[in-house]
Amino acid sequence: MMKKAVVTRLLSQSGLRSLLGWTLRWSGVLVLNYHRVGDGSASSFDRGLSSASAEAFADQVRFCKSQLDVITPGDLPRVVARGRGRYALITFDDGYRDNYEVAFPILRAESVSATFFITTGFVDAPRVPWWDEIAWMVRTSRRELIALPGWLSGAVSFDEPDRERAVRALLQAYKAMPVESTDRFLAAIAEATGSGRCGEELGRNLWMDWNMLREMRTAGMTVAGHTVDHPVLARTSHERQREEILGCARRLAMEMGEPMRYFSYPVGGPNTFDAVTHECLREAGVQYAFSYYGGFQRFGDWNDYDIRRVPIETYLTTDWFRSIVTLPQFFS
Ligand SMILES: [Zn+2]
Repeated sequence: MMKKAVVTRLLSQSGLRSLLGWTLRWSGVLVLNYHRVGDGSASSFDRGLSSASAEAFADQVRFCKSQLDVITPGDLPRVVARGRGRYALITFDDGYRDNYEVAFPILRAESVSATFFITTGFVDAPRVPWWDEIAWMVRTSRRELIALPGWLSGAVSFDEPDRERAVRALLQAYKAMPVESTDRFLAAIAEATGSGRCGEELGRNLWMDWNMLREMRTAGMTVAGHTVDHPVLARTSHERQREEILGCARRLAMEMGEPMRYFSYPVGGPNTFDAVTHECLREAGVQYAFSYYGGFQRFGDWNDYDIRRVPIETYLTTDWFRSIVTLPQFFS
């Protein structure tokens, strides 16, 4: 991680980045993915979802605009048929309210359109999601360490000031287990930390509501799907996958007045979706689905249901971000 920061700084100082960007021209669609925008450094929730400060986001949007043709998913059929050129899509997952309060005004001021993949269950019944709840239970705990026998080998220590490592370890364990075990795992953490479960109150203003989403749509943003309850689709039953995808499509159509054409997979790694997922997406009439494991999308290996996206996170320096945009073949 540090190495990339150093390399990208040197590239920028030497003027080499613009020279290389010009000589090593690439062709394809660079899809950037964000979760939360704003200052998340003191949050008791999952800080890994903090993608950029408001200032960094504005700077990133302006830089993208100056280098690439920023398009919408509706432009993809034309762009893919053309098969050359350098394009960018700006996307957000989950539907956090800071997308409306912080990112949307910046996008509007810059006349840039972005796509928001919404977990409809969070809009319909606002609550704290498991990743934020795990972080909250760890950060509000009065204990120094916890043991979760039967779940984790060895104790998890809380001795670092921000407890970030402990949060990461528990999130990792959650993501690796079968969906049926996850509720019992959350209950075990609640007891071991002594924090109890997160109250409903904390989740009340966490998500955008349908009025905000309609306002964004009217202003030229794209609103798309990200399931109802955010499970890792490939780890659930056929029936559940169907409900998660068709249920999400149904709610979006009802509230937004247009069909769900675009979708992003929760978590988004190569093992988080499968043939059943694709069958459900086809049934729902989804045209393009987006994964989340890095890389930019070349025209040569285009797959409508596995369009690659690059994670944007707060540790990216300005130079690093600019290198992703100019030289994604090395940095995305
Ligand atoms: Zn998500």
